[in-house]
Amino acid sequence: MPVPGGANLPYSAAKLKQILEERVSAPLEVVIVKNAWTVLRQTRFKDGRRRVRVHEIFLDAPIDVLLAIGDWVRKPTKAANLVLDTYVLGCHDRIRALTPPTPIRTRGKNIDLAPIFLKLQKQYFEKTIDCNITFGDAPGASRRGRRAIQYGVYDSVKKLIRIHPVLDEPWISRAFVEFIVFHEMLHAALGVEIDLDGRRAHHPPRFRALERAFDRYEEARKWEDVNFNKILRAAREVTQIR
Ligand SMILES: [Zn+2]
Repeated sequence: MPVPGGANLPYSAAKLKQILEERVSAPLEVVIVKNAWTVLRQTRFKDGRRRVRVHEIFLDAPIDVLLAIGDWVRKPTKAANLVLDTYVLGCHDRIRALTPPTPIRTRGKNIDLAPIFLKLQKQYFEKTIDCNITFGDAPGASRRGRRAIQYGVYDSVKKLIRIHPVLDEPWISRAFVEFIVFHEMLHAALGVEIDLDGRRAHHPPRFRALERAFDRYEEARKWEDVNFNKILRAAREVTQIR
C-alpha cells in the first residue's frame, strides 16, 4: 500500500509514528529528538514496549527513507542501512547546527594529542585534515566482535577524532599512540560514511595499504601484539571509572 509522501511533507510526529507502526506491524513509542548525535535509537523494554528515538531531520525525509527506518527498527538490513546512511550524509550540516559542540580535551596526564595531530598533518596530509581531536570514550567499543577495544573513532558528522583515554597511560608506546591518531586521520582524509549502528568497519584494502605509509608502522603493530592483553585490562579499568 503506497503511503502518501511528497505533498504532505514535512511529516508530523503522529504521521511518522503511523508510518513506522504500519511498516513494523507493532505499536511503537516514537520520540522526536533534536540535539542528539545519534540519529536513530531503539530501546526494547522487558514488558515488550519498543521506543524509537528519531532525529528531527527525518521529519522531511522522502518516504523510502521512512520505510527504511521501519525496516531498521524491525531488523537492520544492508539495504535499509544504505538508504539511511545516504540520507544522513546529506543532513550533516543540519545535524551539526542543531547540536551543541562536544567539549574538546587534547591534553591528558601524559599525552597531548594536539602536537601529535599537527606533526602528522604536516608529515602525511599536507595540513589538509579538517577536524578536531579529543580524548573521550569510543561508543559501541564493547560490542565490537573482533576487537574488544576501539582505540579511536572518527566521527564525520562532528568532524571529530576521539581517542580512547587508555592511550594516555604512561607505559603506552608513543609510536602506538601516533599510529592510532594517524589511522583516524586516514579515515578523515578518505571520508567515512556515518555509521548508524556503530558496528561497521571501513578498512578496505586501499585503506590498509595507506596505513603502512606510517613510518613506525611495524614498531607500533609489534608493540600492540606484545601488549594487547595489558591494554585491554587497563582499558576496562579506565572505562569503569568514567
Ligand atoms: Zn579504523
